[in-house]
Amino acid sequence: MSCELSETATPEDFARPRWVAQPDVRERARRLSQKFEEAYGRAPVGVWAAPGRANLMGEYVDFSGGMCLPFAHQYVTLTAAAPREDGVLNAQSMQDADESVADDRPQSTRISAVAPGAVPGWFGYVAGVAWGMNRVAHGESAHPVAVSELELAADFGADLMVDSTVPIGAGLASSAALECSVALALFSLNTGRDHPDDPQRRALARACIAAENHIVGANTGGLDQTASLRSHAGEILALDCRDFDVARLPADPALAGLTWLAVDTRAPHKLADGQYSSRRAECEAAAAVLGLPTLRDALPEHPTPDDAAAVLARFDRLLESGADLTEDREKTRLRLRHSMTEMLRSVQIAHEMRSDAPNWSRVGRLLVEGHESMRDDCQVTVPELDIAVDECLRAGALGAKVVGGGFGGSVIALVPLESVAGLAAAVQSCFARNGFREPLFLTLQPSEAGRRVL
Ligand code: ADP
Ligand code: MG
Repeated sequence: MSCELSETATPEDFARPRWVAQPDVRERARRLSQKFEEAYGRAPVGVWAAPGRANLMGEYVDFSGGMCLPFAHQYVTLTAAAPREDGVLNAQSMQDADESVADDRPQSTRISAVAPGAVPGWFGYVAGVAWGMNRVAHGESAHPVAVSELELAADFGADLMVDSTVPIGAGLASSAALECSVALALFSLNTGRDHPDDPQRRALARACIAAENHIVGANTGGLDQTASLRSHAGEILALDCRDFDVARLPADPALAGLTWLAVDTRAPHKLADGQYSSRRAECEAAAAVLGLPTLRDALPEHPTPDDAAAVLARFDRLLESGADLTEDREKTRLRLRHSMTEMLRSVQIAHEMRSDAPNWSRVGRLLVEGHESMRDDCQVTVPELDIAVDECLRAGALGAKVVGGGFGGSVIALVPLESVAGLAAAVQSCFARNGFREPLFLTLQPSEAGRRVL
C-alpha cells in the first residue's frame, strides 16, 4: 500500500483532519464534580488530575532497566473523590459508553477484598491502586522499604467518579493517567496532603505499577506511571529504569520552530493479548543467556554502537557453545538487538537534548531508527503505524515513531510548525486511500505531573 496521490482518490478522502481539542481541565473538573453529586448525592471533596504520556525513546526497555525519554502531555484523566468510613471503594466512569471500557455499571468492592484475579475490567485499574498503596506501605518484595504514608486503614473507603481527556487505548497512557489520578485522590483523602513530595510520588507510582501488573495483569514496566506522577512542564524525563531516578531535559523544540504531533491511528488492537508479556519474556531469556539480571547490565554506563554489537556477538557465541534458551532463538535475538539499540538511542537523544542547541534533525533520524527497530526487531507495529510514519516523513516531519506498546495506538512526530496542517491533511487522505479508520491528531506539550485541580 502506498500513499502517493492517486487519480482514484475521492473528495471524501480530503475531509478535514479531526483534531482532539485541547482539554479545558477546570471546566471538565467542574462538570465532573456535578456528575459526582448526581451519582452519590453529595459533593466531592476535590478533583485530582493526572496526565498521560508520550515517549520519545526507550520502548520495551523499562522492564530491562533501560533509559526511557517520556514526557507527560497535557491530556489528563480526572478523578472526583469523597471519603467513606466503611472500607468500601465505589467508582463510576464517564467513559462507560466507550467501546474500550466494557463494563458500564457502577463498580464497587471492599478494599480488603481486592486481590489478583478478583477485580475484572477497568475497575481493576482503580481498585488495584488502593491494593497497591497498602502493598507499598508494607514494603512489597521488589522494594522492601515500607512507605507508611500510603497505608489505607481498614475502614478507609471512597466514592470516585472519573473522566478522561486522554484518548483511551491510543498508546498515550490513559491507563496510567487513570491509576495516577486515583492514587493522588486516595493519598490526599487519606493524609490530607495535596502535594506529595518526590519520594511519595515515587511510592505512588510503585502502587500504580503494582495495580497494573498484579490486579489488571498487564506486565508493564513503570515508564507511564513515572511520567504521569513526576514530570515537570516543559521538560523531557531521562528516566533510568534501574532505580527510577530521573534527570530533567528542558529541551524545547518550539525554540527551533518545531512541535510534537501525535497521530492516533485508531487501528483496532488485534493480536495484542499476551504480546507485551511475550516480548518481556524474550528479553528476560536473553538476559539469562548472558548471565545478567537485566539487559541494561550488558552495556557500560556510557554505551556506544560497538558495545551494542559486542553484546550480540557474545550472545551468539554463548548459544553456539550450548547455553540454555527458554524462548525461540531467532525472536530472542531480535528482541536483544532491539533492546541494545533502543537503549543506545535513548542515550544519544538525551545527549542531544542536554546541549544548548539540540540537533533536531539528528533527533528526528533517531526517532525513525527507533520506529524501524520497533517494526523489524521488536515486531510490534501494524500497517497503520508504518504508513503513518512514512507519510509524516513525506509531509515534512523531521522524524516519527510509534509511541507505547504498538499493535495499534499512536505515532509521535517532530514537525515544523508551518508543516503541521499540511501533514495532518496528508496523513488523513493517506489513511482514507488505504481504507483505514479515520485518524485523530493531537499536538502534545510537555506538561506538569498529576495534581489537585479543584
Ligand atoms: P492506553 O493506556 O494506551 O490508553 P491501555 O490498554 O493500557 O491503553 O489502557 C486502556 C484501558 O484503561 C481501557 O480499556 C480501560 O480499561 C482503562 N481506562 C482508561 N481510561 C479509562 C476511563 N476514563 N474510564 C474507565 N476505564 C478507563
Ligand atoms: Mg496503558
